[in-house]
Amino acid sequence: MDMRLFERFCKQAGTMSIRRIRELADIVHLTDERKDVLRRIDKRGSEIKACPLCGGDKLVKWGTTRTGLLRLRCCKCLRTAL
Ligand SMILES: [Zn+2]
Repeated sequence: MDMRLFERFCKQAGTMSIRRIRELADIVHLTDERKDVLRRIDKRGSEIKACPLCGGDKLVKWGTTRTGLLRLRCCKCLRTAL
């Protein structure tokens, strides 16, 4: 989120109704759960020892996915996988 937009949001947060605050809390809670799931998937991805597509055993880190998960690239088939 853009910093100015975030600051504006914070200023407006003080005028939110209880209902809106609860809705926001639910969203934040879901986001934490999502982050936890992503962390678990990412950890699992780092434990992968062979390419799930060809079985090649040499994998290199290849950036991250749109959601921030570690992406691996197989040196044998040159395809990427989580
Ligand atoms: Zn492969």
